[in-house]
Amino acid sequence: MDLPIKRMYIANRGEIALRIINACRILGIETVVGVSDADRSTMAARVADRAICIGPAPSPKSYLNKEAHITAALGTGCDSLHPGYGFLSEKADFSRMCSEAGLIFIGPSGDVVEAMGDKIKARVIAEKYGVPTVPGSNDVGSVDEIVAFARAHGFPLLLKAAAGGGGRGMRIVRSEDQIKAAFEGAVAEAKAAFGDGTVFLERYIERARHIEIQVMGDKHGNVLHFGERDCSTQRRHQKLIEEAPSPVISEEQRTRMASAAVTLARAVSYVGAGTVEFIYDSETGEFYFLEMNTRIQVEHPVTEMVTGIDLVVEQIACAAGKPLALKQDQIMLHGHAIECRINAESASRDFMPSPGRITTWLPPSGPGVRLDSHCYEGYVVPPHYDSMIGKLIVHADNRQAAIDKMLGCFKTFRVEGIETTIPIHQAILAHSDFTSSKVTTRWVEEKFLQSSAH
Ligand code: ADP
Ligand code: ADP
Ligand code: MG
Repeated sequence: MDLPIKRMYIANRGEIALRIINACRILGIETVVGVSDADRSTMAARVADRAICIGPAPSPKSYLNKEAHITAALGTGCDSLHPGYGFLSEKADFSRMCSEAGLIFIGPSGDVVEAMGDKIKARVIAEKYGVPTVPGSNDVGSVDEIVAFARAHGFPLLLKAAAGGGGRGMRIVRSEDQIKAAFEGAVAEAKAAFGDGTVFLERYIERARHIEIQVMGDKHGNVLHFGERDCSTQRRHQKLIEEAPSPVISEEQRTRMASAAVTLARAVSYVGAGTVEFIYDSETGEFYFLEMNTRIQVEHPVTEMVTGIDLVVEQIACAAGKPLALKQDQIMLHGHAIECRINAESASRDFMPSPGRITTWLPPSGPGVRLDSHCYEGYVVPPHYDSMIGKLIVHADNRQAAIDKMLGCFKTFRVEGIETTIPIHQAILAHSDFTSSKVTTRWVEEKFLQSSAH
């Protein structure tokens, strides 16, 4: 592909930095990865054309340092910047700073990130375009406002951070006496995590599934969707296992959800890869808009496996101004894909991070098996960052075959030296509630972890 991008700077780490390097290789783009002191010898640093140190290990001084990234990108002659996920990927001002510095930001413009990054603003846009939202409020600034809302609408409610992400800044409220603690907790957590304590309310959906639609927009007004991912297996509002397609929705629901997502993306002239997240009420079959993530997502590989399309390559091509070559009816879903997020955590110690040296790393392989990871034997998982060390993705003809394939992979996958969440995945995948698709977003905490000895 002939693109105006020749050298890309990667403002991220871990498996996603490697994933972006691979896409750049396919496109003939050179890569420069910005690394912290702790990441100087990582796989990304070794396989990129160049690595440049941007600061000390703690992320506020390195991966979250906007100026350091831009200086490094310009200093190494890059013409573009990929933010990955997490870190600065959804910071509107970072998208703007990149553009102003003359770097092509692999993501939407600052205005679009801003409109969608604030959950309250995004709800307003969704409502305007007829996309259903969870019944709720605009920002609430006091305990009294929440009490008034609860008296009018009832319990349970969910307090959420407007700037939220990664499942943080959320509190379930089931009765009036819980309001004060929940409000103070949510505001404090939101302030600490996002520097913004604005919170709002949604009706809390008890038997919920999380279903999201992958979209992609180019700079020529085309928007496509790539079907859905079901990410209902969660712990503390964080995804553990994702799959495509969803085992619970009908073709008609899939069509309605996808068309709502495309409508929303078109409404904001969306450019690049994005995900429109919905909460699906298992009891009523209704779905409601949750938020839009204006970046590539951790679980994008399951969509790649069922569509056969490289989403990161398409994302880069869109940012570079290429029109999407695909037509909607060329995007077909084949078989079933599942992803397990593997974390360096100790399940027996309340999922405490388990950093340290990996002494054995024997990954699985085979047809329809994909491991996105930056780990290797001898690698030291640093204590400073997210505990995800990789994602194992499998593809098979149908859901049960995919579950069986994943379980088979875990039998040969050996990781020693650190604790991982592999045993938890094995137990979940073998559980009848999972195989029969009965899990809800609370299932891991309310049923699985209660009943098992983990
Ligand atoms: P984040 O930005 O942290 O990803 P989301 O709004 O996407 O926040 O919500 C994350 C998760 O929290 C969802 O996948 C779901 O499990 C749960 N959740 C969010 N809103 C609701 C709701 N109104 N009712 C029930 N669960 C919810
Ligand atoms: P998604 O919305 O894509 O499913 P999350 O909601 O889990 O993913 O959000 C991404 C989260 O990943 C961030 O909140 C952050 O904690 C974490 N994160 C950021 N960068 C990395 C990375 N390089 N490797 C692993 N996790 C990361
Ligand atoms: Mg979300």
